[in-house]
Amino acid sequence: MEKKKRILTGIRPTGPLHLGHYTGALENWVRLQDEYDCFFLIADYQALTDHIDDIDRIRSAVIEVTLDWLAVGLDPGRSAFVVQSHVPEFAELTMLLSMITPLAYLQRNPTLKAEMDRIEATELSVGFYTYPVSQIADILLPKADLVPVGDDQLPHIELTREIARRFNRTYGQVFPEPEALVGRVPRLVGTDGQAKMSKSLDNCIYLGDSAETVEQRVAGMYTDPTRLRSTDPGHVEGNPVFMYLDVFNPDAAEVEELKDRYRAGRVGDVEVKQRLARVLNDFMEPMRQRRRHYEQRMDEVKEALQEGTQRVKEVAAATMDEVRSAMRIDSYTQSVPASEPSEQASLSRDEALARLAAAKLEPYWNVDEAGGPVLFRAARGAKGRPPEQKDRAWRSELIEALELMSEANVAAVRREVRRRVARSP
Ligand code: ATP
Ligand code: MG
Repeated sequence: MEKKKRILTGIRPTGPLHLGHYTGALENWVRLQDEYDCFFLIADYQALTDHIDDIDRIRSAVIEVTLDWLAVGLDPGRSAFVVQSHVPEFAELTMLLSMITPLAYLQRNPTLKAEMDRIEATELSVGFYTYPVSQIADILLPKADLVPVGDDQLPHIELTREIARRFNRTYGQVFPEPEALVGRVPRLVGTDGQAKMSKSLDNCIYLGDSAETVEQRVAGMYTDPTRLRSTDPGHVEGNPVFMYLDVFNPDAAEVEELKDRYRAGRVGDVEVKQRLARVLNDFMEPMRQRRRHYEQRMDEVKEALQEGTQRVKEVAAATMDEVRSAMRIDSYTQSVPASEPSEQASLSRDEALARLAAAKLEPYWNVDEAGGPVLFRAARGAKGRPPEQKDRAWRSELIEALELMSEANVAAVRREVRRRVARSP
């Protein structure tokens, strides 16, 4: 039998899970449990990065998240539920990978930038800034092939692929390059119409909400602000009530009929919202039943965490042995020869240019006539910037270009860079 491919994905235990988590991620997790060998991570280290003063919150959220997982149908019999901080190898690999992750990669990560903008500068920890590296270690430690996530995570997965390539190129093949898989609704809007349903924005419907709470939250939802009376023609596009109906009502014909009436001013917000509340409650009822089942069996919940964590420990130990040996830091008393640099040939000029073009770097980079080295021409957007900024843009592009080249090209670029650095004042 062919060995199953592996999934690693996770959630920060910072509170209960909501419908956004479901459509962006959990729905895929549930579906893929048979096809893949799944590791689902409760990323408590990552929660600490911005909740260091609220350990109580993290403690209770670990259990809330586990119950949410069981409620949506994740099955600890098939999939491993893993507590990140109980597996020391996650921290060890994070530390080692931080050495080969260029700072420039973090500086230009759009998800990290957006999240940092929301944190007071004085509150921002080094741990938060480097959480993408810990996430890379989470994914690479069990050698995951697939990472099902919401679309805010895509820059992190791309970074993971780059770091896996970088490690393999430097020390020999250890890690697969994982693929991302985005859910049916890459980013579910909030009940207030904001772009993302998110705990911190207080615009959520939680998977554990009672039927009454769902009715109340839906009744308070943002709809079409231009519509004052139910006889006014209404807007369906960008209206979160209809977005949710599209996502959660299995009866598409009914949704279309409601939309037609709404546009024509022949149905009130109240009726549409009541319909949505019923749809959501039908959808959530089986989850409520499973939750009640497990709430009465908390020993099984605890066991799920213990068993899953134990399972990943075996995989983790094996990967770390490979990593230490590839890096030749497993023993300092044995003489181990450095592995020969691989005999890989330079890319041809055409191949190198094609890769640069695919990465949209072509106008700024060139390949010499011999088809070997990639030569720097001009940094993207660096014109008119002060010299240190130019230098930074230049460097970060250089790194990007290096990733695309074969080892022989890379060696040539390194020589070129050393030459330029030696020349600069
Ligand atoms: P919150 O923003 O509510 O605090 P979070 O972003 O901290 O939640 P994470 O643990 O970072 O939660 O995310 C878990 C997974 O859920 C990720 O794959 C993320 O992309 C996905 N996700 C979270 N919110 C949404 C949403 N509104 N729509 C789609 N996917 C989402
Ligand atoms: Mg997040």
